[in-house]
Amino acid sequence: MTNELKVRVHRGTQEIGGSCIELQTGDARLVLDVGRPLSARRGDQVDLPDVPGLASGDDPTLLGVVISHGHLDHYGLLDQVSPNVPVIAGEAAAAIVEAARFFSPGPALRPAIHLRDRVPLQVGPFTITPYLVDHSAFDAYAVQVDTGDHRFFYTGDLRGHGRKAALFEQLIAEPPVDVDILLMEGTHIGASAADEPTHATGSESDVERAMATTMRGTPGLVVAAGSAQNVDRLVTCYRAARRAGRTLLIDLYGVAVARATGRGTIPQPGFPGLGVWVPRRQKVRVMQSGEFHRTREVRGLRVFPEQIAAHPERYAIYTASSSIAELVTAGALDDSGTVIWSMWSGYLKEPSGQRLRSMCATNGVAFEEHHTSGHATVTDLQRLADAFHARALVPIHTEGGFRYGGIFANAEAHVDGDWWAA
Ligand SMILES: [Zn+2]
Ligand SMILES: [Zn+2]
Repeated sequence: MTNELKVRVHRGTQEIGGSCIELQTGDARLVLDVGRPLSARRGDQVDLPDVPGLASGDDPTLLGVVISHGHLDHYGLLDQVSPNVPVIAGEAAAAIVEAARFFSPGPALRPAIHLRDRVPLQVGPFTITPYLVDHSAFDAYAVQVDTGDHRFFYTGDLRGHGRKAALFEQLIAEPPVDVDILLMEGTHIGASAADEPTHATGSESDVERAMATTMRGTPGLVVAAGSAQNVDRLVTCYRAARRAGRTLLIDLYGVAVARATGRGTIPQPGFPGLGVWVPRRQKVRVMQSGEFHRTREVRGLRVFPEQIAAHPERYAIYTASSSIAELVTAGALDDSGTVIWSMWSGYLKEPSGQRLRSMCATNGVAFEEHHTSGHATVTDLQRLADAFHARALVPIHTEGGFRYGGIFANAEAHVDGDWWAA
């Protein structure tokens, strides 16, 4: 039967991140995501999944690699993929990854073909239909693949409580019909029920309200520690600062990412109440690279530590946790200020998180956490699964795949590396 659709998940049936899926119909194959496992440490060598032609580029039956979004656990092994294999990804997602590489080295993401919301692409026998989704990465997609006889749908990473929650509701209100396989992320389906959050995850709007309250109630400087690539969170911080009557300062990494979105609606230089603070590490990077246009372009918007120290109540900063210590040294952040941890709380247990906490304690800086997950709650996943009513629902990006059967209808767990048919 030549029209059969075969699937194998190379990585992700038993873990969160490192996702890689191979589809085959007839003699044509397509790969979805080539992620780096989250368990791998920086510098660890991770081999590419065993997909014929992926590394060598000499197998014409491999038609391309689709990257769902710009998180390393979905594209982080791309530097090992042969340049002969076409990459298909979102234009803004790729621009953000490229912008980030100046500040933090990582693999390139240079798609030959761009994913566009609900615009089908024909790649050999595969019709690829991307759906823009709500996730903590900008320009993230779920991917539907049709082969004539079969319909396959991969959620990628998604949630229903971010700034684009309407996209999640739209997917539930008008789901694709006749889906044979729904390959669904389950970050919040834990290895046991005890691992799952017992309360609903708050929304980005909740984070915005909480941050605004902190900014109003703090007499000194407020610094939110977060990821420059989390564009939703940048918007949340900006809106919170506006509500609290503070100027939000972002760093050069934030400026580069905001510009790379290509969207005039994302806060960037020129927006009211938005300024730029340049951490030392970024100054050094600019000098070493000779890319002085980066500081020249924001010259009129720069706010220096001595200005912050003179009026800390006027400012809030969104930056990396590693840049916060120099604000203390400069006298801009003291016992009148607050640090907001706005990332996954697990990172706080790592040495860098512990150092930040103890530095705050030593200097009397208040410490709070305001964050929400980039991934759907179990309740939202149930709503999605019910709406799709796929013939088979297969777990990925989860440690609780074996528990899908107790939570969803038609669950069908598979193991890494096994081929199975739709
Ligand atoms: Zn992921
Ligand atoms: Zn992700």
